[in-house]
Amino acid sequence: MNRFEQLKKLEHPQIWDILIIGGGANGLGTAVDAGSRGFKTILLEAVDFAKGTSSRSTKLVHGGVRYLEQGNLSLVIEALMERGLLAKNASHLVKNQSFVIPNYTWWGGYFYTIGLKIYDLLAGKLSLGNSTYLSKEKTIELLPTIVKKGLKSGVLYHDGQFDDARLAINLAQTAIEKGACVINHIKVIDLLKDNSSQIIGVVAQDQQTMQTFEIKAKTIINATGVFTNSIMKMNDKVYKKYIVPSQGIHLVFDKSFLPSNSALMIPKTSDGRVLFAVPWHDKIVVGTTDTLVKKSELEPIALEDEVDFVLETAQRFLTKKPARADVLSVFAGLRPLAAPEEKGQSTKEVSRSHKIIVSETGLITITGGKWTTYRKIAEDIVNKAIKTHGLPNYKCVTEHLAIHGNKKNSVADFENHLFVYGTDRIAILQLQENEPELNEKLHPNYNYTLAEVVWAIREEMATTVEDVLARRVRLLFLDARAAIASADTVARLLAKELEHDEGWIQNQLSEFKTVANGYLLKEFRVL
Ligand SMILES: Cc1cc2nc3c(=O)[nH]c(=O)nc-3n(C[C@H](O)[C@H](O)[C@H](O)COP(=O)(O)OP(=O)(O)OC[C@H]3O[C@@H](n4cnc5c(N)ncnc54)[C@H](O)[C@@H]3O)c2cc1C
Repeated sequence: MNRFEQLKKLEHPQIWDILIIGGGANGLGTAVDAGSRGFKTILLEAVDFAKGTSSRSTKLVHGGVRYLEQGNLSLVIEALMERGLLAKNASHLVKNQSFVIPNYTWWGGYFYTIGLKIYDLLAGKLSLGNSTYLSKEKTIELLPTIVKKGLKSGVLYHDGQFDDARLAINLAQTAIEKGACVINHIKVIDLLKDNSSQIIGVVAQDQQTMQTFEIKAKTIINATGVFTNSIMKMNDKVYKKYIVPSQGIHLVFDKSFLPSNSALMIPKTSDGRVLFAVPWHDKIVVGTTDTLVKKSELEPIALEDEVDFVLETAQRFLTKKPARADVLSVFAGLRPLAAPEEKGQSTKEVSRSHKIIVSETGLITITGGKWTTYRKIAEDIVNKAIKTHGLPNYKCVTEHLAIHGNKKNSVADFENHLFVYGTDRIAILQLQENEPELNEKLHPNYNYTLAEVVWAIREEMATTVEDVLARRVRLLFLDARAAIASADTVARLLAKELEHDEGWIQNQLSEFKTVANGYLLKEFRVL
């Protein structure tokens, strides 16, 4: 996975079968699907893989207990099926995670046990384990810091848990292995149309050299998530809002606030939403919220009200009460909601059930969906492309396609932090052996080594400090201060590997600090 090699493929003009704009879950899934069917496929990502919503999820591979409660059975069944497939196809990244719902009413235990038994049944053969009713004592044993006053019982159930940005990198690797051309830091700035206004390609600009390319394709897929409106503006030539963004935030705390292998699930918060506290890379991720915001931004910032809400809810349920100073990182993600068609209509959530729009120009746009269902979404998109653009009817092969890093029939050692690399772990250890100076830790409090940084640069297309610290080793999401402290080391390794000068290093450090400040609560931001 080498950016230079991928860019070289643009030197020879050709007509691609499928061109995908956007390297999030939906775009990357489509590149894997199209590439593995045998289509000549290219994906262009403006910043980095999973830079958008796809690195900012709650990290769950789930059927969606909430949708079961809403009676949306078809969505739950589809997601449970995809959960099971992903747990097999990316077994190095998807953990079987137990969740405990604490009940403070006499009926809650029975109500949620019955509901979750249905959840298990719907998963069928792909179930991750049986849901069970828990006594008060067992609930406390599994969640030692849960508030005990008024606690009546608990319910345990299973879902999947993963590392979203790492899966995105693995999908990019898989797509390349299947023959696709996949490039990051290249932005689509215009669409090319023929005399009958049919879309025939894009103009893309390399964000590092500013070189522009005209790239032609039979089918163009718009998979830009909350940035859909800007591509639609290029397509329609008039501004119409297709989606409006709604923000969800997460706070990250030390594991001591919930020292357990089980996650906490609060089925109804004071605003009627679900709140999770999930163990992730030896920390606890707590979220999320649902707040309409005005703009789709690459770096959305958590609002004070959202931070207060998540903190207060966590404080209500945990005996070790997290305070603002305990927040190691705060990250915000945006879900696309369908914009109201007329004034006065309400916004409608489309983020979980995906929607494919085919414009008169031939542009195919995908909005919504869940990370969990990205494979099915991709299958639907490529099927639509075949149907609407006369491509050969190659069959989808991703149902049992191993994702890069997966080792069939093996159980990952989730205790070792290198587990996220799957089969690449051996090569990283080899790198440490061959270049012993890379054994050094990136930060004294974390197990990440310099070898992982160099691996990200050489093998995973990381070209900026943020690519490395946000989406390859995830330190920015786990502990923003530690990430800022590690930035200089990362910048110097990047400069050495990619032959940049001191000016470039200083520029990168300043850009990274600006981004990283958004992951700190306001009183802890660094100048
Ligand atoms: C708060 C929150 C929590 C969630 N939690 C979960 C969860 O636990 N489990 C789950 O299954 N799902 C979850 N989801 C849903 C899941 O994260 C999304 O469905 C998924 O990430 C959407 O991916 P996407 O590809 O549509 O968009 P994105 O990931 O936003 O990707 C769009 C990409 O397009 C790129 N782009 C934009 N403009 C251009 C351009 N002009 N040229 C080239 N590239 C461009 C952007 O840089 C971006 O990388 C959550 C969502 C939110 C908001």
